[in-house]
Order: sequence, then C-alpha cells, then structure tokens
Amino acid sequence: MESLLDGKKLASALELRLKKDIDDFSDVAGRRPGLAVIRVGEDPASGVYVANKEKACKRVGIDSSVHNLKADSSPEEILGTINSLNNALKIDGILLQLPLPKGFDEKQLLKAINPEKDVDGLHTLNLGRLIKGEEGPRSCTPAGIMALLRYNNIPLEGKNVVVIGRSILVGKPMALMLQAANATVTLAHSKTLNLPEVTNQADLLVVAAGKPNLIGSEHVSEKTVVVDVGIHRIPISTDSMGKKFKLCGDVRANEIASKVRAITPVPGGVGPMTVAMLLVNTVDRWQFHCGLSSTVSDLLP
Ligand code: NAD
Repeated sequence: MESLLDGKKLASALELRLKKDIDDFSDVAGRRPGLAVIRVGEDPASGVYVANKEKACKRVGIDSSVHNLKADSSPEEILGTINSLNNALKIDGILLQLPLPKGFDEKQLLKAINPEKDVDGLHTLNLGRLIKGEEGPRSCTPAGIMALLRYNNIPLEGKNVVVIGRSILVGKPMALMLQAANATVTLAHSKTLNLPEVTNQADLLVVAAGKPNLIGSEHVSEKTVVVDVGIHRIPISTDSMGKKFKLCGDVRANEIASKVRAITPVPGGVGPMTVAMLLVNTVDRWQFHCGLSSTVSDLLP
C-alpha cells in the first residue's frame, strides 16, 4: 500500500477516461454532457471552487455554464433559475454551490433540483436512495473518497472505521457508504467523549470536522489509514503584496505522516477527487438522459 493516497494523480487518470467516454459517445448521444453551476453571492472561496470545476469540465469536454446570482437575490429568483435548468434539455447536472449566503433555506433550494440532475447527490430522494442501497447520484466528496480507497486497495470489509463529522455534505453519507462496503462504522462528532480513545480503534479514520489541525499523534496508531477532508486557508504572514496563506487540513499531517499506515495530502487528496466525482456524476447523468448504459457505474459507490 502506498503511504500517500494521491487524489490528484487518480483524478487526472479518471479525467482521461471520462474524456474518452465523452468523445466516444457524443455522436450517438447527439450532444456533449451539460453541467450548470449556480453560485449565489461573492464568497471568494466559492469563486475558486467554481472556477476549478469549470476548468475540469473543459478538460474532459463537458459543456458547463455558471449562473451567478446576487447575494440579495430573492429565493424565488433562485428557484426560477433552478426550474429553468430542470427543464433545459441539454443540462444533465445542476450544482448549487454551497455554502449559500446567510438567510437562504439551503434545504428548500436543494429539494427544488430535479433529483435526476442532482449531481451533488444532496436531494432528499438521493440521500434516501443511498440509505436504501438504491442506485442514484451520490454526494461527490464521500464518493470520491470511496474511489480513492478502492484504487489504493484499502480493505474495508470487517474493518473498524471512524468518521469524524456528521454533516449531510460529508460525514453522514460517508458513514453510509462505508457501512455499505461492510465496514464497522463509528460516527464521531462535536459531542463525542474521549475522541482519542474512539479514533485509536480505527483501521480507517476519515476526518471531516472542519477544524484546522484537530487530529494529531494521540488520535492514531501505526495501523491507521487517515483521510483528511478538511481544507483551511491559514494566514501565515503579511507583506506589501498583502496576506499570505497556507493550506492545511483537519489533521496535523507533519506530526502523524510518518506514524500512520497511509494518509491523504492537503492539498492534493480529497479535493481533486471531489471534482473528479462531479465529472463522473455528470457523465453518468448524461448517459442516463440520453438513454445510454452508464460506462462509469464501477466508479459510483
Ligand atoms: P460541517 O461544519 O457542516 O460539519 C462538521 C462536523 O464536524 C459536525 O458534524 C461536527 O459535529 C463535527 N465536529 C466539529 N468539531 C468537532 C470536534 N472538535 N470533534 C469532533 N467532531 C467535531 O462541515 P462539512 O461541510 O462536513 O465539512 C468539513 C470539512 O471538510 C470542512 O473543512 C470543509 O471545508 C471540508 N470539505 C472539503 C471538501 C473537499 O473537497 N476537500 C469537500 C467538502 C468539505
């Protein structure tokens, strides 16, 4: 087993495969896949994420469009955009970039997306399908982690897995996917007592707490495989050009990398896999809408 679980490398390989699938099937489908991203407000981090998704779409041949709505848009305006994209024949996937500015009802807007175009897998119906083990779009971050674990031959059946974080975006769907792969899953969260005691039992530790440098040497053993989902921009200095930042995860990687069995880097681990799974979901939805068999079902947990 590699000690560095390289998401960037796998995401690049998946992009080549998707590009070929799109080139091979565009004629019979009559068009290329289409993805629409809705961005509300001007959050700079969201701007970077959306730009990265657009670039990735371009690399593989997905037609992408970004719908920028002002932070003071009414919910009806956003619902109007979602409805028109639901009805647009050339749009296979709709992604509402999260987080939304304060005051918006995220649940109501996510529910308005046609579940068959829900490439983020966050619609109530698709989360229900995940619980029941039925096919449907799966949330990109946990699905990307499952693909990365599979590619690196990390065994899951019968293994003790601890997931830290119980959000709808990462922790909960992650726990369900790992359980479906026959792991014994513990879901830890902000009220969990004696976290190091819990995490030390883990063969696999997935950290999605959103707290920089939360996890260190006291939480892991030599047998632990660590997946660091967190991503944070930490200011390190200020010069005449402005503030300088470095990226870090929820894990103190410097402290534990040489101790644990394997670890995902930040950046270059979970982030690129999240984008890759968005592309996979979009291609899957395109093939579904065009009446073709999915060529990517092996990549979906
Ligand atoms: P969230 O804030 O919605 O949820 C965090 C969860 O962590 C909560 O369930 C909370 O109970 C738990 N938690 C918080 N502090 C804890 C503590 N001290 N001990 C144990 N549990 C604790 O966050 P989220 O949306 O799930 O995202 C988590 C992190 O993952 C964030 O840093 C986010 O930026 C990152 N993220 C990265 C990607 C990617 O592609 N790399 C994608 C999604 C999210």
